[in-house]
Amino acid sequence: MKRKEDMTWWERLYLPEIVRGLLVTTSHFWRNLALHALHAVGLATDKRAAATIQYPEERRRYPDVYRGSHRLTLKEDGSVRCTSCFLCATACPANCIHIEAGEHPDPQVEKFPVRYEIDTLRCIYCGMCVEACPCDAIRMDTYVHPRIWGYDRQDFIESKEVLMQRSRTLAEGGRDSLMVQMLESYQDADR
Ligand code: SF4
Ligand code: SF4
Repeated sequence: MKRKEDMTWWERLYLPEIVRGLLVTTSHFWRNLALHALHAVGLATDKRAAATIQYPEERRRYPDVYRGSHRLTLKEDGSVRCTSCFLCATACPANCIHIEAGEHPDPQVEKFPVRYEIDTLRCIYCGMCVEACPCDAIRMDTYVHPRIWGYDRQDFIESKEVLMQRSRTLAEGGRDSLMVQMLESYQDADR
């Protein structure tokens, strides 16, 4: 980039660059408008109308290391793997995990969570809970980002059932299943 004192009189006017910028913006605008109009009647569908991703219809695949919403993993019999040791809640810097431990009916298992909740309005998605868990009972490999709509605080509290259901949906429907489900419920809420 040139210093101001090295610029010519013509360059210091800035007008040519302003006009050039406006021409670029205007040409993109008319091109996108024309393509959107053609797409609406089913023409030129192989040409992209804009450089931006048309979310939620279009999505970029999240990387494998993406830290998404939480899930509670399950044992082979479908019960929750968590043993209510509270290590995740202790490690959580946002203090957003709330656990209520109960005696497990099976004498081989000491405890299980009667209640396990994550307040996603407080969660900072740092992953410390996953790191702290000694039995791989909580994961963030759901490839779904936090829910961003709701009408009261309770809509953002994820219960044990919600966290367990994520594991089932993922096992049954594969990597994209939770995102597809979330987009459907978002579109329903938008209607
Ligand atoms: S991701 Fe971080 S902030 Fe969120 S529940 Fe886990 S430890 Fe807490
Ligand atoms: S999720 Fe893991 S760390 Fe948290 S209470 Fe359960 S077993 Fe302990």
